[in-house]
Amino acid sequence: MKKVHVFNAGPCALPQVALDNAVEAIKDFKGTGVSLLSISHRTKEWEETMNECRALWKELLHIPDEYEVVFLGGGASLQFLYVAENFLEKKAAYLDTGVWAHKALKEAQGLGEAYAIACSADKNYTYIPKGFEIPSDLDYFHITTNNTIYGTEIKEDMDCPVPLIADMSSDILSRPVDVSKYAMIYGGAQKNAGPAGVIFAIIRKDALGKVSRYIPTMLDYRTHIDKESMFNTPPVFSIFVMNETLKWVKSLGGVEAVHQKNIKKAELLYSEIDRNPLFVGTAAKEDRSIMNVCFVMAEGYEGLQDEFLAFAKGKGMIGIKGHRSVGGFRASLYNACELEDVEALVECMKEFEKLHA
Ligand SMILES: *Cc1c(COP(=O)(O)O)cnc(C)c1O
Repeated sequence: MKKVHVFNAGPCALPQVALDNAVEAIKDFKGTGVSLLSISHRTKEWEETMNECRALWKELLHIPDEYEVVFLGGGASLQFLYVAENFLEKKAAYLDTGVWAHKALKEAQGLGEAYAIACSADKNYTYIPKGFEIPSDLDYFHITTNNTIYGTEIKEDMDCPVPLIADMSSDILSRPVDVSKYAMIYGGAQKNAGPAGVIFAIIRKDALGKVSRYIPTMLDYRTHIDKESMFNTPPVFSIFVMNETLKWVKSLGGVEAVHQKNIKKAELLYSEIDRNPLFVGTAAKEDRSIMNVCFVMAEGYEGLQDEFLAFAKGKGMIGIKGHRSVGGFRASLYNACELEDVEALVECMKEFEKLHA
């Protein structure tokens, strides 16, 4: 296979061992002679995988006993609606830090009173708003911890006077999280935890059941907690690969060890962006994401953008074009992106500098 460096924003690079085991399982799932894609989700072999996956989430994130983990289809975008269905009785507030946060807010507004407590749209979402006060009469406060498109991140688990709900699609498993600070954490697996097709939701059970309106069965988290995410056919393939990805995280020493690796990768790339006269970072320095690194051509070099993309592509860099709403470049340094990939990108930026500076 061609040697490439994958910086895709999602679906993300996945560990090779997870891919290899998935290929094997598609042919023969655990020696049953049946493909993973045809296995009944009611078999004991499948239930073992499901249980292992749930247990690994709990172990890797030190999830307290009051919480349950569920896996569902529909993507993180459908979770925007689930959150409002399950938690919004009267009023909720959202921190508007970008497109995803905004979409989450919009879904809640369809069901009740929901508003943005603070918003960083004035500077195209290049920073995390600070200094806002969270009223104590809210049903919940919703944050997006990592803003995949703009490369900003809330890196600390905040204290919150009301139930705190976080979309962690793009930074889950990248750093240790104090789960006890949240009523719920959710996200699409495809950014850092597995392939597309499944979401994870980590829910404090006693935070549920406070809404008086009827919740459709499939949209009620209690349905899925009661049935251990098997109320209907689960996305078997996606859960299998997610489980393999979690096993890999564990084999590296867990989330704490992976966090150290992620900090190293991010520091390497940000220091090159700050040093290299051709490039400039777009996110406020104190809010820089360790997962998605966004940058543009520096003033005077704007005309070189397409040339750099082509140059980098020629060196095997995949997926460094910025999101269409922002432009420039974005390198996503999810867990399966290795230090050597980042070194290759930095080398590529240095070579480009020699050609043009
Ligand atoms: C990608 C992303 C989403 C949307 O995920 P889907 O599974 O495609 O719906 C939501 N929130 C964040 C932070 C994301 O990065």
